[in-house]
Amino acid sequence: MAVRPIVLYPDPVLLRPTSPVEVVVDDIRTLVEDMRDTMYAAPGIGLAANQIGVGLRVFIVDLTAGDEDGNLHVFVNPEVREAEGTEVGEEGCLSFPDVLLDVPRAPRVTVEALDLDGKPFEVTADGLMARAMLHEIEHLDGQTFLRNVSSLKRELVKRQIKKRIKAGDWVAAVDA
Ligand code: ZN
Repeated sequence: MAVRPIVLYPDPVLLRPTSPVEVVVDDIRTLVEDMRDTMYAAPGIGLAANQIGVGLRVFIVDLTAGDEDGNLHVFVNPEVREAEGTEVGEEGCLSFPDVLLDVPRAPRVTVEALDLDGKPFEVTADGLMARAMLHEIEHLDGQTFLRNVSSLKRELVKRQIKKRIKAGDWVAAVDA
């Protein structure tokens, strides 16, 4: 169990596609424990492995941010199988402290992945769960939610981030 530092944009590990997990071994289960501890400490509702600097295709979601037991969902090697429609909703990201963006996403999505025993499963979700899964898979693809906003908005946010980095005001919610 360990809370790990959260990697902030524009760290290169957030901008590179992650690698699939070859076999779900104990190291992966330990990674997921650390991801869970880090996400709950923030607190946040979703975390991708590269957000703690590990370039593997793993993400977790818990819409209660750990407030209620039994809501942690773990996805190893996730792939989107189906995504329907578009709905705009506000999103934050642990790698972009205090940045909120209106992001269009499919409101209903089917994702295929492996669980922590290496067994394949499929989940269809809508609403916030669908949004969180798509946000995290985007991280694993080496992208961030910035790619979904207009280029004008994107440049504005990047400029604000540069200013905040200069001012020493670009720090993660968790300091481990
Ligand atoms: Zn994020």
